[in-house]
Amino acid sequence: MAYKDSLNLPQTDFKMKANLSERETNFLEKWEEENLYKKIMDSRKDSEQYLLHDGPPYANGDLHMGHALNKLLKDIVMRFKTLKGYKTPYIPGWDCHGLPIELKVTENVKEEDLTIEEFRKKCRNYAFKYVKKHVKEFKRYGVLGEWEKPYLTLHPNYEANVLEVVKTLAVNGFIYKQKKPVHWCPSCHTALAFSEVEYKEHQSPSIYVKFEDIEDKNTYFVIWTTTPWTIPANYAIALNPHFKYLKLKVNDEYWIVAEKLWEDMAKKIGIEDYEIVDTYTGDELAGKKCQHPLIENRKSKVVLADYVTAEEGTGCVHTAPGHGEDDFYTGLKHDLPIFAPVDDRGRYTEEFEELEGQKVLESNEDVVELLKNVKALINVNKVTHSYPHCERCKNPVIFRATEQWFIDVDKNDLRKNTLKSIKDVKWVPPTSENRITSMVAERPDWCISRQRSWGIPLPFFHCDDCGEDIIDNEKIFNRVIEFVKENGTDAWFVKNENEILGDLNNCPNCGSGNLVKSVNILDVWIDSGSSFKSVVEAWKGIKNKADMYLEGSDQHRGWFQSSILLSNAVNNQAPFNEVITHGFVVDANGKKMSKSIGNVTSPKEIIEKYGADSLRLWVASENYRDDVPVSDEIMKRVTEAYRRIRNTFRFILGNLYDFDPDKNRVKYKNMPELDRYMLYRLKNIVDKSNKAYENYNFHKIYHMVRNFCVKDLSGFYLDGAKSVLYPYREDSIERRSIQTVMWDILKALTKILSPILVYTTEEVWEYLNNIKKEEDSVHLSYWPEIEIETDKEFINRWDKVYEIRGTIQKLLEAKRENGEIGHALDSYVYLFSENDNELKMLQNLKEQIKRANVVSNVYIEKRDDMIQDEYYEDIYISVEKSPDKKCARCWEYSHKVGSFDDYEDLCERCREIVLEKEKK
Ligand SMILES: [Zn+2]
Ligand SMILES: [Zn+2]
Ligand SMILES: [Zn+2]
Repeated sequence: MAYKDSLNLPQTDFKMKANLSERETNFLEKWEEENLYKKIMDSRKDSEQYLLHDGPPYANGDLHMGHALNKLLKDIVMRFKTLKGYKTPYIPGWDCHGLPIELKVTENVKEEDLTIEEFRKKCRNYAFKYVKKHVKEFKRYGVLGEWEKPYLTLHPNYEANVLEVVKTLAVNGFIYKQKKPVHWCPSCHTALAFSEVEYKEHQSPSIYVKFEDIEDKNTYFVIWTTTPWTIPANYAIALNPHFKYLKLKVNDEYWIVAEKLWEDMAKKIGIEDYEIVDTYTGDELAGKKCQHPLIENRKSKVVLADYVTAEEGTGCVHTAPGHGEDDFYTGLKHDLPIFAPVDDRGRYTEEFEELEGQKVLESNEDVVELLKNVKALINVNKVTHSYPHCERCKNPVIFRATEQWFIDVDKNDLRKNTLKSIKDVKWVPPTSENRITSMVAERPDWCISRQRSWGIPLPFFHCDDCGEDIIDNEKIFNRVIEFVKENGTDAWFVKNENEILGDLNNCPNCGSGNLVKSVNILDVWIDSGSSFKSVVEAWKGIKNKADMYLEGSDQHRGWFQSSILLSNAVNNQAPFNEVITHGFVVDANGKKMSKSIGNVTSPKEIIEKYGADSLRLWVASENYRDDVPVSDEIMKRVTEAYRRIRNTFRFILGNLYDFDPDKNRVKYKNMPELDRYMLYRLKNIVDKSNKAYENYNFHKIYHMVRNFCVKDLSGFYLDGAKSVLYPYREDSIERRSIQTVMWDILKALTKILSPILVYTTEEVWEYLNNIKKEEDSVHLSYWPEIEIETDKEFINRWDKVYEIRGTIQKLLEAKRENGEIGHALDSYVYLFSENDNELKMLQNLKEQIKRANVVSNVYIEKRDDMIQDEYYEDIYISVEKSPDKKCARCWEYSHKVGSFDDYEDLCERCREIVLEKEKK
């Protein structure tokens, strides 16, 4: 018999090479067939519910790394909660209405060529197409959920619930109509909410313009602006009441400019000769009237405003109430017309004849020319500044007063209550609480009407006879909601008022039958912001609150905010207990991914190349609170970590081929101390992982588990275990004890990693089930419990052995390097001490120190004339090449090798085992 055949060498079919892409799709099919999601829900049907409410991505375009990061973080959270025994339903959703889809649909066909019915059908089909596409990909990521029954904001039931929310707002007086300047996109010809606007660098003209004082001829108030096109809408000049204003003599004219700004202005326009002839406070100048330079019968009123600063300009602020927020309120205060001579497409109307029909954003030079002609222009220059752009079409937007519907965010203390409810929520990371607080504190009223077609209609009517707007009549509202539930919102646009309202088609004010329905639609942020009503309440029954919302940090402006405002207006509470925000995915240099730079990586590519488990491991490995980098380099590092983990699983499985936990399990108290210590370290990693999951610190789990595999297992425990597992008797207590520990490690690690490596842990679980039948799927299992008894003394002692081992390994490495030894088994370790207690302790641990270090023997002696290589506290340590012979079977050195007549090349232990095996 060859000695090799007498060893208990590992046996397993678990493959070293993962071949993830193929293996994963097999599991995916199996899960689909068995309906794993339903099985999990059933297994916890009586448990407490944990609801992570999905923020709906937009049903448009291909999925990018940001989508993958978001969905996978959610999946990891929910799978951990499932392990902890919660029932975690997950209803994914999609935002299906809005401009991006309209823009896509009108790429190939003109909106004007379609009926509204046809147009909306195209939009709907487009949304469905992308939902279908996304579902397939999200499933491939390994995300579990109600993929067959997601929530879509275009479902009639969902739409009806949104209208319920709007009804509550209307009935409680939150909604008002006003002509007010709003961000307006001339390209998309619609109003934009403040969350739909992004600021980018933009070049504008910068001009100084003179407005002549009507009573004091040849004296001019000098204004400065970067939007010359708004000059025709000027109705006032605002001064700061507390500033000092100079009256300057420049050439033959008199100019009025704030003192603080004059020096700067003079430099900019190159004026050196001037004379200060008088000074005033802003207060003293208020009430004056100036002649508008371009419009003959227009006066521009000099008014006071606190927002006039000394940061730039002249301290005399051009005020066009129809084209600016501050300007608007100044206009209201002084009873000025809210004038905006600009149409939907951003062109001057007949109200400014000189440039009628011209696009205002392209008219700056024309206005400058007009001002030059009437000698009102002092200076023109260019500035590059941060300017609002349309988030959808990326074009610059304008501020334009139109009739719009608003939610008054201060009505019924809504803003105050919302700010209060923010404090009841746990924000992760905590800094995001400040972000949402300041955004809610500073936000303007919410413009909720849009002049588009693809959305939920604003369910309002207007009476053609008495002019009344019918917005808060509950009966009419309920009728509309019923109508939408039955027919969907398409019908609103197709059917007439009689068909919608039936016998309620009468003006509640004057009784006339001439009600006209609104053709505006709702801001899509109302759609998604109402999901707490349409999804959460529907699922949770009584509890109308989700446990968690988890989205990118841009949602402080978007979904977190729209949701918390609407929920406060309707339910007087935040819609969530906890909110996690994550950063954006960037390239290795921290740059945003963009097609033009060519640094875009897609989740699809990563899955094809490395498998979904590698994508998931990448998500877990990064601290998502910051921006999250991805690159080939990073993916290589992640797959290397994956390989380490996989090899650990493989090694353990290979050594459990003859282990039956029911029969062979060694009781904790009968285990050698080294094995007990390993279980203690395992318990540590289980507890620390639990805490890290509870705190959503997934990157900590990644690092801990990786270190556990590399340091504790590969480096410390498993190497030494081989020197027992292979040569010892199969059923020796030493070997069975190690197998018991390995079994516990295998089960615990598989479970700990199951929220992250969903495919690989399931693969391991199948092998594990062959050893002992547990739950059908690891995803049906529960968080591991490690039961051990330890005391402080034990842990201290073993922590010490662990440390000493570090020193021994260093010495072994040095000997290996200078060629004195090959394998660690070639050496003996000598431990010396003068301390009797210490010696006794070491003596007891002798065999285990030997095993932990994989050396052939350990000698412990009391000596004071020590020649030591190294020391640890009061223990001196020396490593020597063994002077004895090597056993041909177990490779350990022993002075017994060569002392037996029958087996000259074996050690005592191996000789006995071989003799036994021969007898059989
Ligand atoms: Zn636009
Ligand atoms: Zn009426
Ligand atoms: Zn041997």
